[in-house]
Amino acid sequence: MPLRDPIKREIAQRRRLYVKICRNCGARNPPKAERCRKCRSSNLRWKHREAMGRR
Ligand SMILES: [Zn+2]
Repeated sequence: MPLRDPIKREIAQRRRLYVKICRNCGARNPPKAERCRKCRSSNLRWKHREAMGRR
């Protein structure tokens, strides 16, 4: 079910990018996370793409 509404699309994209990815196991973590919920490593990175700084 594709989203046609551009505003909703933008929100959805931001939401999708607003996560942290564990460099160890690749799990997605909530943005507040300091450590991975799976492997407990603190080796997290933001899932950054261009969409975040584009607008
Ligand atoms: Zn992990």
